[in-house]
Amino acid sequence: MFRIRRVYDDVTPMNKEAIAQVQNILRQQFPALSKHEIADLPRQLRNPLKYRFRSILFIAEGPARRIGGFALLLHEPILRFCYIDFISTARHRTGGGIGSALYERVRTEALNLNAIGLFFECLPDNPKLSHNPEIRKRNAERLRFFERHGAFPIVNTAYETPLKPGEDNPPYLLFDDLGQDIQLERDIAREIVRAILERKYANVCPPEYIDMVVESFQDDPVQLRKPRYWKRPAVPAARYIPADQRIALLVNDKHAIHHVQEQGYVEAPVRIDSILAEIDGTGLFQRFAPHRFSEKHIKAVHNSKFVDYLKKVCASLQPNESVYPYVFPLRNAARPPTELPIRAGYYCIDTFTPLNRNVYPAAKRAVDCALTAAEKILEGYRLSYALIRPPGHHAERHSFGGFCYFNSAAIAAEYLSKYGKIAIVDIDYHHGNGQQNIFYERSDVLTISIHGQPRFAFPYFSGFKAEKGIGAGKNYNMNIPLPEIVDSKRYRRALESAVKRVKRFRPDFLVVALGLDTARSDPTGTWSLEPEDFEANGGMLGSLNLPTVVIQEGGYDSHILGINARNFFTGLWSGTFK
Ligand SMILES: [Zn+2]
Repeated sequence: MFRIRRVYDDVTPMNKEAIAQVQNILRQQFPALSKHEIADLPRQLRNPLKYRFRSILFIAEGPARRIGGFALLLHEPILRFCYIDFISTARHRTGGGIGSALYERVRTEALNLNAIGLFFECLPDNPKLSHNPEIRKRNAERLRFFERHGAFPIVNTAYETPLKPGEDNPPYLLFDDLGQDIQLERDIAREIVRAILERKYANVCPPEYIDMVVESFQDDPVQLRKPRYWKRPAVPAARYIPADQRIALLVNDKHAIHHVQEQGYVEAPVRIDSILAEIDGTGLFQRFAPHRFSEKHIKAVHNSKFVDYLKKVCASLQPNESVYPYVFPLRNAARPPTELPIRAGYYCIDTFTPLNRNVYPAAKRAVDCALTAAEKILEGYRLSYALIRPPGHHAERHSFGGFCYFNSAAIAAEYLSKYGKIAIVDIDYHHGNGQQNIFYERSDVLTISIHGQPRFAFPYFSGFKAEKGIGAGKNYNMNIPLPEIVDSKRYRRALESAVKRVKRFRPDFLVVALGLDTARSDPTGTWSLEPEDFEANGGMLGSLNLPTVVIQEGGYDSHILGINARNFFTGLWSGTFK
């Protein structure tokens, strides 16, 4: 079994390894390629401007992450065409359907990119152009393969003119209209052919050769060769969201055990259900079961005595027993109260975040979801979403509060920071004091939060503009406090400045602490974002085009919560993939 997945970058160890294997296949299967061209592949994925094509790499990955084949697709958004630079299976894997699966994946991608069609080269089956019968036979097999999938050589042009007279095997140019029934107009074809030759082969094709080939396109519309090897019509390309473009979804299956029954406790289980109900039907998500991670990941960002305390106190409580902190030992920090329930205030920032028997297991499971979401990004997913409660962004290194116990976003960020630089953007209505506190002295994790000015909004003691980080972390914390009344436009401006700061930082990963309490009618907020704003804001974050983990934080109006979440992810997805 193998799966086709897109490789977006050369940052994670898995992707680096995949690219190295692709380079090996290139070396084996395309001996004419220069060392330099092969070595350049990672840069080609990173820099669409230099190569004047957007490069998209797909791999067929088998057991033990062995690569059975790959396709490198070039996308030209202005002329709206795609060009297959390479499609190849590894030497030990001929046949077996990998080539077909890769080609079909490429067709779907081209269709989703609104391309008029796919272009690529294939060596000729004409004895006048291909003299060696062995090679000619192989060429014919490849042409048969492409015919079966709906691609045919363009005829009546001089495309297959050897660069040097007498050179063997000058390639045909093939066209696949993806089943769209497109008659390729001459003038468009000329522009496309010029783009291919000038951008791909500028160093081998002299300008007069390119002019000659372009001029040779006379038929209008361009004519394709009649099927020679395959009589049945090809299957049209399918437009769907391929598995590797879906958002990996992790839902805290233990969230419901954490249910504080007190009146007015808005952080309730219904929040998860109302989000799930709305996002389920979108087809954007691929659900996974969370893995279990060791506590060391929690202790990497939280004080270990605090973590041990939380575990111990929860286990010591009776079912239905709740502890609310009521003594805050600020005067003597060296003397935490001995009685476990009384000690709660030693680690808590407020009086409304209770402890009970289920807090620890529920919060631990939320962390497992966040870490699995991060792991999915390392495995090659571009987007992942930990739909969890209890939330986490108010939990600091030494403390819990604001309905939060462990800071799942910070724990996921810490985990990913072993592989590259992280930007955390907190878009909850309330300040992300937890991430700020945890990463305040670090320059490899940029923390940004847009929130209600702490003069009037929880947590009241942090989130001020002047808090910018200290030591190595100076200028790596950015607070954007906003007034009590904020509309779409005002919010958009704030998010724009956050996005600008992220771009300047050039991170390898993005973590979004997604609070939906910025919505109109949220019982804990004062702003008035509408459902369409969530889509636009998701789109802005998506346009950063970074591997992104989204962690659910606040948002308490269960009537609109799901719709806003759905809109946010629709925007994020479109911003990322379009
Ligand atoms: Zn909030």
